Amino acid sequence: MNYDDDNIFARMLRGEIPCEKIFEDEHSFAFLDIMPRAPGHTLVIPRAKASGFLDIGADDLCRLMVCVQKLAPVIVKALDADGFMLQQFNGAGAGQTVFHLHIHIVPRYAGRPLRPHGEQMEDTDVLAGVGAKIRAALGG
Ligand code: AMP
Repeated sequence: MNYDDDNIFARMLRGEIPCEKIFEDEHSFAFLDIMPRAPGHTLVIPRAKASGFLDIGADDLCRLMVCVQKLAPVIVKALDADGFMLQQFNGAGAGQTVFHLHIHIVPRYAGRPLRPHGEQMEDTDVLAGVGAKIRAALGG
């Protein structure tokens, strides 16, 4: 799939628009979803230009998933969640709305249903508080 350099996550990577960043390294970048399905809903993206799961090289995909594996348990612990769910959508028909590959880490809380996907905007202050907790747990 063609990659649009002006998609919103590409612009975040370039620092052109703000986000509640929780982690970055040479290959990956992670920030809070502005319409979280649950508190702590995080998106992990590669710096590599890839629209979807089929558009990234194996090495970059491995680095991305290692980052997801590193962040998920820290998020769960920082927020006293009971577990987590991974989601990843490919193609508009499958529910993808931003065409830069991203893995959703959605913390799960026993007995609490998920909010719908991409519908309910969270307050900036709430996101900032959640982001601070996760960054503290990451040691930053
Ligand atoms: P998908 O349907 O997998 O493409 O999901 C895109 C996700 O990006 C949705 O969960 C949106 O809530 C989220 N999103 C869209 N714009 C932003 C933004 N500016 N900052 C953080 N998350 C965003």
